[in-house]
Amino acid sequence: GRIPVGISSCLLGEEVRYNGGHKRHRYVEQVLGRYFRYLPFCPEVAIGMGVPRPPIRLVGDPDAPQARQVNDPSRDFSDALRAYGREQAANLDGQISGYILKAKSPSCGMERVKVYDVKGMPTGQGRGLYAEALMARHPCLPVEEEGRLNDPNLRDNFIERVFVYDRWRRLQ
Ligand code: SF4
Repeated sequence: GRIPVGISSCLLGEEVRYNGGHKRHRYVEQVLGRYFRYLPFCPEVAIGMGVPRPPIRLVGDPDAPQARQVNDPSRDFSDALRAYGREQAANLDGQISGYILKAKSPSCGMERVKVYDVKGMPTGQGRGLYAEALMARHPCLPVEEEGRLNDPNLRDNFIERVFVYDRWRRLQ
């Protein structure tokens, strides 16, 4: 059977983004989908933010940022996103052999997500809060972002790591 892999649900065409849109990625869906059985999650919808919703961004210390509403920084979703991330990551123990995350998202982004100060000036780069919780609990899980999978070398490397991890996972 196909290998179970978690994914940011907007990458499969689900209309869960803040603006009601999606970020369908054809290669991920149609080509990798021949090998992977996807388990889609949208953390922002899961914590009840709704669709559409005001966008959020990372604010503060790039190593420990907060996720705040862009047009009203008093609205802080950090605790909810981190709590959901921890709960979801625990639910996925032993259940998946890889994860494909949506790049640049304050929730799902794996790396280089822009972080701002309270005035909206960029201060650095961090990791989405959901991705942070997921990767903290599953440090060896193969994780990639959709944009990086356009690179044939990174793509082959990811597929290989998923197959290896899957073999290991099924022996546990
Ligand atoms: Fe939801 Fe993550 Fe996609 Fe944003 S990037 S719409 S939080 S799945």
